Amino acid sequence: MSVRFVIDPLEFVKNAGNRHDKIPLDELARLHDLLFDREGEIIYHITGRLDQNEKPGLHLRINGKIHLNCQRCLDKLVHTVDLETFLLLAKDEFELDQADDDDNVDAILATPELDILGLIEEEVILSLSISSRHAEGECSTLKLKPTDNNPDDSPKSAHPFAALAALKKAN
Ligand SMILES: [Zn+2]
Repeated sequence: MSVRFVIDPLEFVKNAGNRHDKIPLDELARLHDLLFDREGEIIYHITGRLDQNEKPGLHLRINGKIHLNCQRCLDKLVHTVDLETFLLLAKDEFELDQADDDDNVDAILATPELDILGLIEEEVILSLSISSRHAEGECSTLKLKPTDNNPDDSPKSAHPFAALAALKKAN
């Protein structure tokens, strides 16, 4: 069973839409490269509402625990996701450009079929620190392998976070 959740965001706001659900990490394919394993789930709460200027937007809360790779020892790093954001719904590209000029506003284009899980996935990915690692002294040093006698450890194998960093730079 797919948990895809697609809405017309402007209708959602008009109807004071409100949805609270959880997403198994298995469903968030774009996140998989960044994860140590796929245990856990993301819990979201989305409401459609108007901001103080009577502009429609989506209020989003995202919580959960996910397992990342520590950048130092490459072992499991438990990461708590705790995000809250308000996304202004731009009716067209012009409104979107205007909103982008304002650093205090996050806006998305109000396409009639907005994939909410895709949106949540993106918010989680953007929130992840590109230098996630255990606190000082908490790495599992036993798992640290010397790289000089490991032929599989080619220097050109990019870490997933390097790919993410490149992605962020491209934007
Ligand atoms: Zn570590």
